[in-house]
Amino acid sequence: MHGFDQLWIWDDPDVAGGLGWYRDVARGAKPAKFRIARSIAAETPPDADEEDLWREIDRLTPVFEDRRRALGGEGDAAAPAEGPNLLGLVRELAHRMLSHCNFCRWDCRVDRTQGAKRGTCKLDAGTRVSTFFHHLGEEIVYRGRLGSGTIFFTSCNMRCAFCQNGDISTDKDNGMAVDAGTLAAMAWILGREGCHNINWVGGDPTIHLHAIVDAVSILGEPDYRPAEAALAAALRVKADGHFDFPGVAAGDGPFNTPMLWNSNFIMSAETMKILRLLMDVWLPDFKFGPGRCALDLARTPWYWQTATENLLLLKEWGEDFTIRHLVMPNHVECCTFPVLDWIADNMPDAIVNIMGQFRPDTFTNPRSPLYRERYADVSRRPTVDEIHAAFAHGKERGVRFEAITFEKDIPRLGL
Ligand code: SF4
Repeated sequence: MHGFDQLWIWDDPDVAGGLGWYRDVARGAKPAKFRIARSIAAETPPDADEEDLWREIDRLTPVFEDRRRALGGEGDAAAPAEGPNLLGLVRELAHRMLSHCNFCRWDCRVDRTQGAKRGTCKLDAGTRVSTFFHHLGEEIVYRGRLGSGTIFFTSCNMRCAFCQNGDISTDKDNGMAVDAGTLAAMAWILGREGCHNINWVGGDPTIHLHAIVDAVSILGEPDYRPAEAALAAALRVKADGHFDFPGVAAGDGPFNTPMLWNSNFIMSAETMKILRLLMDVWLPDFKFGPGRCALDLARTPWYWQTATENLLLLKEWGEDFTIRHLVMPNHVECCTFPVLDWIADNMPDAIVNIMGQFRPDTFTNPRSPLYRERYADVSRRPTVDEIHAAFAHGKERGVRFEAITFEKDIPRLGL
């Protein structure tokens, strides 16, 4: 679609093999997962309790996977089910979870629907979007030619002292309050303007699970078109102009842009089960090693255990994903090496981006009034030696990082 499928990166067998489903959805050859979920009838009696609903998810997930794997080529689209369906079921479950919030590993169990008690993410039931736009800086498999359709949510469930999006993640009141209809309109605009995916990110998107599932459910409605009011509301925080590529913004056919989950990966197991039915590709951020660094730099206990458990689920489920690892200054031996070792030992086929663009930000920037001396060890950029040590270790362990990590250099240098 729009030359996406002709990009040189797909000549790389590891990349093509690891992202086959996502690529097919992006080029319009397969229905996005949320459309398959919309095609599967579900039994959801009005008096069903939450356990009943989870049992129904467990019963239908193999049906969903069988249908997904059996899909043929173009035109083998999933017809929407009459009545209650799997997409509606995950929406109902996300809202039930919101009343005793267990979206992420913090497992705060607060009733966010009441607004009075807020958990670690500081959010009630409301959702705010800081901005949305065609992101042209993501990896080439996501930015493609027309950009990754990125929607930035506010607040976070981690406290990374060096957060590169600190203005968004530390300020829950940043941006604009959105309802589900406005959020769906944002995704629809990005998809109709040619973005190759809808990139749910923050802060972290997990803490907005209910709102995202609502929006995806709306996008899955047959013949969905956003109302004028929703379009107007959405455009108030769109950071770029209207993209009108010939043949792209026609608006015909069902919405079928792949969904991308761009996250710190400390979601709960329940959230993973829901997202499995909606996300076509995953972009986990795997940053800290197994020691105290996640606690010291991000005030997040259980980081290693949670992130690795969720990564193993992706492998077990046969999902499409690429992993990001940000090299932090003075944390190559305690974080970078163990992360790369774990990937090499547990998922040697995973595509990895070893990122060298760390800059001291938020509480780690010595020139900022927010600077805290206790973060001095990460108050500079990584050195060239540190970055090279990360690359050398990845190479030594056979990690598949070069295609994505060096992709901006490969065409220029003819590598
Ligand atoms: S999203 Fe996570 S941090 Fe926020 S209330 Fe729920 S469990 Fe707590």
